[in-house]
Amino acid sequence: MSESDGFEDLVGRLSSLPGIGRKTALRLAFHLLGHRELAADLASAIGNAVETIHRCESCRNLTEEQLCEICRDSGRRERICVVETPADLRSIEEAGLFRGRYFVLHGLLAPLDGIGPSDLGVDLLRSRIEEGGIEEIILALDSTAEGDATAVYLSRALESAGVLVTRLARGLPPGAAVEFADSLTLTEAFQGRRKV
Ligand SMILES: [Zn+2]
Repeated sequence: MSESDGFEDLVGRLSSLPGIGRKTALRLAFHLLGHRELAADLASAIGNAVETIHRCESCRNLTEEQLCEICRDSGRRERICVVETPADLRSIEEAGLFRGRYFVLHGLLAPLDGIGPSDLGVDLLRSRIEEGGIEEIILALDSTAEGDATAVYLSRALESAGVLVTRLARGLPPGAAVEFADSLTLTEAFQGRRKV
């Protein structure tokens, strides 16, 4: 390993993060190397988070407990909102427009990338429905080709479970991401949801 391999390794890993291009990765790497205490604290915070935070056994939201806070709230039942990522869940929670439970797919169907139904936890979602008491499954997925394909797949896969499956209205413009939608758009999308 040459002297600069460690630096290139760091830059490469930083630029693999979402939203971080090589230029930003370089800036972050130089900043971290210039602030060693911060770098060490960050490294240990990441290690600690990875060690202690895992998926909720019921909804696959991120939690330090067996069940996340939302699943432990007995007032939140009857509806399950299906989202792609924990970031989507957070956006919907912060908009304060939904008082049910969630299910986090951690991805969308992408057969070419090898992401299939088992990666999305579809069996777990189905068993949640089969436990009973669920009236509606709301698919809050991005308005993208993968979001559409996943919504179609889920509505068919859940058909036999005898539950109403709806999808957010097109208040969410084509190509829009749930995570970045403002709360007014999300509210309209929730109110205008329709059966799929
Ligand atoms: Zn949960």
